[in-house]
Amino acid sequence: MKKVYPKEKTTLTKKGHKIFIVKEFCKSCGICINFCPTQTLGLGEDLKVEVLRPDNCIGCLVCELLCPDFAISVEKGKKKEEVEEKK
Ligand code: SF4
Ligand code: SF4
Repeated sequence: MKKVYPKEKTTLTKKGHKIFIVKEFCKSCGICINFCPTQTLGLGEDLKVEVLRPDNCIGCLVCELLCPDFAISVEKGKKKEEVEEKK
């Protein structure tokens, strides 16, 4: 049987953080939206979570840690110093 994987939407922020959202897993509970300290997230027209203000994100991972359905995850961008060290 062919496996069907849920679609993931990736948003890259100005600070280099990547926010991944699997809308199919989101049950619109609003936990991530309410606990995000920078008002980065909100509900879209489809009532699923969306990244409304990507450049606010500080990569704190609160949304990922609190989502009960693994619908949102964040990959922290590299710190400026780390990038410079590798040059
Ligand atoms: S916490 Fe998870 S399930 Fe709830 S709105 Fe956010 S992404 Fe959707
Ligand atoms: S990582 Fe932190 S700042 Fe970024 S969207 Fe998630 S809770 Fe908000």
